[in-house]
Amino acid sequence: MLNIVLFGPPGAGKGTQSEKLIAEYHLVHLSTGDIFRANIKGETELGKLAKSYMDKGELVPDQVTIQMLELEVVKHSGPKGFIFDGFPRTTAQAQALDAFLASRNTGISCMLALEVDEEELKKRLLLRGKDSGRADDQNPEIIANRIAVYQRDTAPLKSYYEQQGKYRGVQGVGSIDEIFASLCNQINSL
Ligand code: AMP
Repeated sequence: MLNIVLFGPPGAGKGTQSEKLIAEYHLVHLSTGDIFRANIKGETELGKLAKSYMDKGELVPDQVTIQMLELEVVKHSGPKGFIFDGFPRTTAQAQALDAFLASRNTGISCMLALEVDEEELKKRLLLRGKDSGRADDQNPEIIANRIAVYQRDTAPLKSYYEQQGKYRGVQGVGSIDEIFASLCNQINSL
């Protein structure tokens, strides 16, 4: 199986590139942010809980997020692989994912990281807020908090996957097609 962790700060272009990667490699796309937003729309208990964190730009607690992700993975029988988009975001989530995939006789193939500097990210998120209507993309304070949470909790995952020899960084600035080509190069050289 080809199991990819797509990594990068909020606004790095993970959603855009995921769409292209799933089409190219026939993978299942699992975005924890999208799943939470679907639950908020459906007014589920999980949605209510997630919203209370998302509205502040905080992470939803690990236990809830991990359980939800695992339930999504088992829904798919015999996939070619998964793109994990926005997951894992903490070391606890990464460890849980490794253990869970090992129990299913598979594992992470690589972490593909989109590298984008902070000023560019803030610009992109505010633009996206206008287009997508996502509340957490419209408020500069929430955006700043999401980036701070990313630096504190999520950025350390780079060394987690580096230690496993699975980290592949790609320049996340350029045209969508250029960035996509760089990601494909990394995958094809695995
Ligand atoms: P995203 O769409 O990936 O930018 O995620 C939007 C929001 O959903 C984040 O700011 C978090 O509040 C929440 N979220 C998404 N994925 C996770 C995760 N793996 N762990 C905790 N919270 C998450």
